[in-house]
Amino acid sequence: MPTAAIIGGGPSGLMAAEMLLNQGLSVDLYEAKPSVGRKFLMAGKSGLNLTHAESFEGFLKRFEKDQLKLAPFIRNLPPEAIRKWAEDLGIETFEGTSRRIFPKVMKASPLLRNWLRRLEDLGLRIHLKHKWIGLSKDLQLHFSTPEKNLIANHDIKIFALGGASWPKLGSDANWLNIFQQQNIPITPFRPSNCGFNVSWSNIFLSKYSGAPVKSCRVSVNGFDKIGDFIITDYGLEGGVIYSHSRSILNEIRDRRCATISIDFIPEKNSDEIYSLVSKEKGKNTLTNHLRKNLNLSGVRASLLREFTSPEKLKSAAALTKSIKALEIPIYQSQSIDRAISSAGGISFDAIDSNLMIKKMPGFFVTGEMLDWDAPTGGYLLTACFALGRGAATGAVHWLNN
Ligand SMILES: Cc1cc2nc3c(=O)[nH]c(=O)nc-3n(C[C@H](O)[C@H](O)[C@H](O)COP(=O)(O)OP(=O)(O)OC[C@H]3O[C@@H](n4cnc5c(N)ncnc54)[C@H](O)[C@@H]3O)c2cc1C
Repeated sequence: MPTAAIIGGGPSGLMAAEMLLNQGLSVDLYEAKPSVGRKFLMAGKSGLNLTHAESFEGFLKRFEKDQLKLAPFIRNLPPEAIRKWAEDLGIETFEGTSRRIFPKVMKASPLLRNWLRRLEDLGLRIHLKHKWIGLSKDLQLHFSTPEKNLIANHDIKIFALGGASWPKLGSDANWLNIFQQQNIPITPFRPSNCGFNVSWSNIFLSKYSGAPVKSCRVSVNGFDKIGDFIITDYGLEGGVIYSHSRSILNEIRDRRCATISIDFIPEKNSDEIYSLVSKEKGKNTLTNHLRKNLNLSGVRASLLREFTSPEKLKSAAALTKSIKALEIPIYQSQSIDRAISSAGGISFDAIDSNLMIKKMPGFFVTGEMLDWDAPTGGYLLTACFALGRGAATGAVHWLNN
């Protein structure tokens, strides 16, 4: 019976293992950490957005420049198949706001537990605390373990080592130099779906750190999206910010500064806002005036004041402009250590349609360690699952030929 090694026990590696076991292969999974799926469990802390219910074409478009690379794999494991797979594991799912799909329990641990039980029943051997540290001259796998170093040989090797975000959960990208030594082209990692630094005043921060700001239209570079974000100690994070993170990062790279523009009241146009702002204030303070006439109070009103000078607050035209397009300059992202995901990794030019490294027959790669990028919304996990299945299918195909 051919033997397979999966290196890395995240969602992509586990999906590859499942596929190979179902094909009758003998599979060993090597994981550096004392347990598998640590980032997957972390994703469960915000509900585990497994996939998305929009149309298949719409779904693929969200991968932008990477959609052609990923389409063949996602076509073989599309969003509805992921829902069915989770439900076969006893995990009911539901469609939440903006058509995102979550497990009803809104966490990852029951799914991971049931999945591991099924994989072990299928015969998966999991070797924890086995960190892959390199290759011998004849391309055998070297692992460091708490007891001794180990050399392993398998007919196929599937690498599912993850990207470079949240390294403390295991995906520390220490494998980069091993593939670089083999002259495999790699795009440098950079943060994706990350928060951005903003220097808040102490008074604003003391009142609003952790506060959600709901239903704003946020624009960057002429593209806008309506959604929520969160004020944090360091700056801004949350869905609508992550969705712009690629263009913000590109602006910072090209021009050293990006501008986020916030429309606090997207349902009213500037003329309507102007006439409400211009209403006679009487004895009302500006704070009361904004609250009574525009329903602008709390964190939203204070955010407006953070970036609008006292002179502008006195002018109805300037105040209207701030309410409809408050400009926040951004100079720096959070570090990759705190990003939801990373872009970059092993270039698709280095691999064939089986996800096998062209220069290294029998070596396959999958998941976030490959060079693709996607927004939040279940796209990351869907692509990792689909690539995992794709690498395993490719490996079986290669073996059979
Ligand atoms: C806070 C947070 C929330 C998220 N929420 C969502 C969400 O709701 N929806 C969504 O779609 N995505 C979400 N993601 C992203 C998603 O979790 C990742 O894209 C996904 O886990 C990547 O899967 P992977 O299998 O490629 O890599 P990983 O999950 O990173 O797994 C890689 C594994 O390889 C192991 N490894 C690394 N190096 C070695 C080595 N040298 N030897 C042996 N083992 C090694 C690691 O320990 C790890 O277990 C979130 C991420 C974060 C950080």
